[in-house]
Amino acid sequence: ITDYDEIVENCTCAFCGCNCDDLDYLVKDGHVVAVRHACRLGASKIMEDMDQRLLVPMIRNEEGELEEVDWDAALDKAAELIAGAVRPVFYGWSETSIETMHHGLELGELVGAVLDNQATICHGPSIQAVQNVGYPIFTLGEGKNRADMVVYTGSNAMNSHPRHMARYSTFPRGYFRPRGRYDRTVVTMDPKYSDTAKMSDVWIGFEQNGDYEFYNAIRAVLKGKKLKKDVISGIPKEDIYELTEKMKNAQFGTLYFGLGLTHTLSKQRNIDIAIQMIADLNKYSKWVLMPMRGHFNVNGFNIFMSYETGFPYGVDFSRGYQRYMNGETNTIDLLTRKECDVFMVIAADPGAHYPGGAVKHLAEIPVIQIDIHWGPSTEIADVVLPGSFIGVEAAGTSYRMDGVPIYMKKAIDKPETCRDDEWIVKELLERVKKIKAEQGTS
Ligand code: SF4
Repeated sequence: ITDYDEIVENCTCAFCGCNCDDLDYLVKDGHVVAVRHACRLGASKIMEDMDQRLLVPMIRNEEGELEEVDWDAALDKAAELIAGAVRPVFYGWSETSIETMHHGLELGELVGAVLDNQATICHGPSIQAVQNVGYPIFTLGEGKNRADMVVYTGSNAMNSHPRHMARYSTFPRGYFRPRGRYDRTVVTMDPKYSDTAKMSDVWIGFEQNGDYEFYNAIRAVLKGKKLKKDVISGIPKEDIYELTEKMKNAQFGTLYFGLGLTHTLSKQRNIDIAIQMIADLNKYSKWVLMPMRGHFNVNGFNIFMSYETGFPYGVDFSRGYQRYMNGETNTIDLLTRKECDVFMVIAADPGAHYPGGAVKHLAEIPVIQIDIHWGPSTEIADVVLPGSFIGVEAAGTSYRMDGVPIYMKKAIDKPETCRDDEWIVKELLERVKKIKAEQGTS
């Protein structure tokens, strides 16, 4: 692309948990027309598909159609629904800024809502495991400069986090790894011969749902035990001995894990045992692990909520103080039990990603959507508030998968009819406060 007005440098991608902050946006007539350094996922998001952009506030009318209204009418309607709710849930947050979450938390406390984010359907089991057995984490920079053994388990980074291998784990030359890829052994553990496995030196194709038994076998070998079975989770025991020996002899080993662990049989127990395996490995060498967090700010919500309330997600304020009970105060549970009576979704698409039972209840209760894109959630929304795109049209703070905070700057102006997420949530807070004051219920 040679036809552009200006280049905005050092922008941050608002897609996956890699939070690549080395992007250049090529801007023409107030639009990003090309992106340098981003992968396909990032570039396709940044160069907004305006066909699907939510541009105007809407309310669903008596005929069941979404009808364009002015901002005052839409905000008043949303505030009225929130103020009148008995069991409101505010869900999403992983694709917006920490600054927006700050106002959302105040609103949640005011009305006794449950605040939950995509961790509940993603790396929530990892957080539970961390609460059980600890968090031997590192920063991506340490991995880049030190790792001589890189393990991806239950993660297909080449598809989900396309620049992860290039930027942080496998290919970059680091201070103690001057030859980059040649200084590292890369292992992928996945039932599928994935694109990440193709980029690796070793592929361990253990059976689907075989994770727990497989890590257990490695732990047993690390503890000096002999394996009794010849084949464990589909892998011959000789291969497990060989892999364990390699892991023991690494100078700095990094294990990146994904939904292959959190979404299969045993869920959080898979991560429990992976963390314990890392602890065992540290008797021989230096090993660390990291969850491959999905959205660019899913980790941010968990960090923000933990700092502010003591709990990472599924935080319930219905009693006026915070409570956190997995299986009770998570969004899917509240929806499938038909407890929730008003649902506000911000920067997420449960209409597309929730199980049928949960979506069915969403279709029966008032849904307020704050987002930039039309999606399945818009089809079930009763009030639509078009926000703006963090990292492109609005500035804000996010937290990378390793917990490093990244400031995402604004590069272009938002469409005139849209508002910043931060402004929308703050405005809702003010309006709900006013209603509560009038009712004398604040
Ligand atoms: S790897 Fe992730 S953060 Fe980096 S450009 Fe691609 S989608 Fe964006």
